[in-house]
Amino acid sequence: MTFVVTDNCHRCRFTDCVAVCPVDCFHGDDEMLYIDPNECIDCGACVPECPVEAIFDETQVPDNQKQWIKVNADKAAGLPVINTKLDPYPGAEEKKEKLGF
Ligand code: SF4
Ligand code: SF4
Repeated sequence: MTFVVTDNCHRCRFTDCVAVCPVDCFHGDDEMLYIDPNECIDCGACVPECPVEAIFDETQVPDNQKQWIKVNADKAAGLPVINTKLDPYPGAEEKKEKLGF
């Protein structure tokens, strides 16, 4: 099992999630972060940290977000590890408000 980053992370990068991950399994590109399913130990620590509720247990990903399970698995391992907090993208606060958080 693993946890999965979904849509709401796109162009956010608050990265509160990476600070609590015990195994450095978040990887990122210019768009968002992805969790490597081979590294995630299913601790769930990242879920409450994400200000836009982008992270789900893979068994609880909403139906319209299921594609992210494969995207995380395909992309994560080939991208750099993100394990320290980064500046959010410009507009991240506005996007968060628009999403209702
Ligand atoms: S805190 Fe949430 S939205 Fe921000 S980078 Fe992490 S997963 Fe993405
Ligand atoms: S569930 Fe735990 S191990 Fe997996 S990404 Fe979140 S903090 Fe890291």
